[in-house]
Amino acid sequence: MLTPSRLVIARKWRGLTLTRLAKLTGLSTRSISLYENGHQEPSTETLRQLAEVLGVSPTFLSAPDVEEIPEAAVSFRALSKMTARQRDRALSAGRVALLINDWIDARFQLPTADIPSLTGQDPESAAEVVRARWGLGERPIANMLHLLEAHGVRVYSLTAEDNELDAYSLYWHRQPFIFLSTVKSGERGRFDAAHELGHLVLHGEYQTLNRPAAEVEANRFAAAFLMPRSAVLAQNLRYATSARILQAKRTWKVAAMALTHRLQELGLLTEWGCRSACVQLSRLGYRSSEPGGIPRESSQLFAKVLRSVRDDGETPATIAMSIGISSDELQDHLFGLTLTAVDGGGRTAPPTPRAPGLHLVPSADSGEHESE
Ligand SMILES: [Zn+2]
Repeated sequence: MLTPSRLVIARKWRGLTLTRLAKLTGLSTRSISLYENGHQEPSTETLRQLAEVLGVSPTFLSAPDVEEIPEAAVSFRALSKMTARQRDRALSAGRVALLINDWIDARFQLPTADIPSLTGQDPESAAEVVRARWGLGERPIANMLHLLEAHGVRVYSLTAEDNELDAYSLYWHRQPFIFLSTVKSGERGRFDAAHELGHLVLHGEYQTLNRPAAEVEANRFAAAFLMPRSAVLAQNLRYATSARILQAKRTWKVAAMALTHRLQELGLLTEWGCRSACVQLSRLGYRSSEPGGIPRESSQLFAKVLRSVRDDGETPATIAMSIGISSDELQDHLFGLTLTAVDGGGRTAPPTPRAPGLHLVPSADSGEHESE
C-alpha cells in the first residue's frame, strides 16, 4: 500500500516535478497526481517502479504517513534566491533527516532541549543570557556542534544538492533542529551554527522569516555568542593590525573577517581601521576561505549512536534499510561523519572531545549510562 505523503516527500526530495517523474516512470502525470492525492492505489509493480526511480525502497513509500515541513517553520537565509523546487528539495531532505531522527529517538534517550526563548531581546544580551544559562562564562566555545548537541539541539547535514543554502533551523514538535552545510571552513561552520542558534533563541517557534532584520539579529547574536564582549575587550585589541587579528582569531575559532567586524562593533576598530584590515586580510585569502584554519566540527552524538548500534550487532546499513534509504544517504545526513570511520574496520573513530552534559542512554537498555 502506498502512503501518498511519502510519495510527495520522495519526489520533492529528488527535485522532481510531477511531469518529470511521469517521464522517468512512463506513467501519466494524472496517475501520479492521483497516487499523491490518495485517490488511487498503484499496483505492487508500479509501486516498485516508483521506488526504483526515486531511489528509495518500496518500504519507504509504504511506511506511516509523514507530515511535510511547512515553509513558514524554517529560517532560510537564501530563501529569496531559491526556486520553489530548490526549497521543496531542501525541506524534503530535512524531512528525511527527521525520519532518521525518529529512528534514533525510538532507541536512545538524547539530551532534552534547553534553549531559552528570548524573543524581542537585544542579540548581544540574549547571547550573554544563553552563555550564562549554559555555564560558559566568557570562555571560547571549544566545539560549537558538541555544545548544541549537549543542549538538546539535533544537528543534521544539508545534502550536497542544497549547495545554495548555508544553513537553516526549525522547531519540529518542540524539538530544535539545525541543518548545516558540510562544505564550509570550520570557522564559518561554527558561525553558521551560532547564527541558527540565534534564530532559535530570538525568533522561536514561529519565525517570521526572511525579514532582513532577523538575519542581522542572528548574525549579531552569533558574533556576541562566539566572541563575548568583555573577554574581547580585555584582549588588548584596540587598533589591531591584521597580523594581530590573525593571532587572536585562533582563540575564538572564528573567521578573521568575523573578528574584524566584531572589533569594529565593539569600538576597538574605527570604520576605516576595519576596512583597511579587511582589505589586507582579503589579499591574504581570508575573504572566501580561511587559510590554515581549524578542521570542521563533526557530530559527537551520531558517533556515539552509531558505536552503540554497532555494539548491538547492527550496522549503519541496517539503519538505512529500516528507514528505506541508502547507506550513502544516511551518511549524507549525519553531520560530518563517515560511516566507515565510525564502523571500525581498523580506522580511527572521529574525535569526541569532552562536552558537558552529553548523555546518551540506550532507552531499551538496562539504564546503562554513557556520558562524558
Ligand atoms: Zn538566518
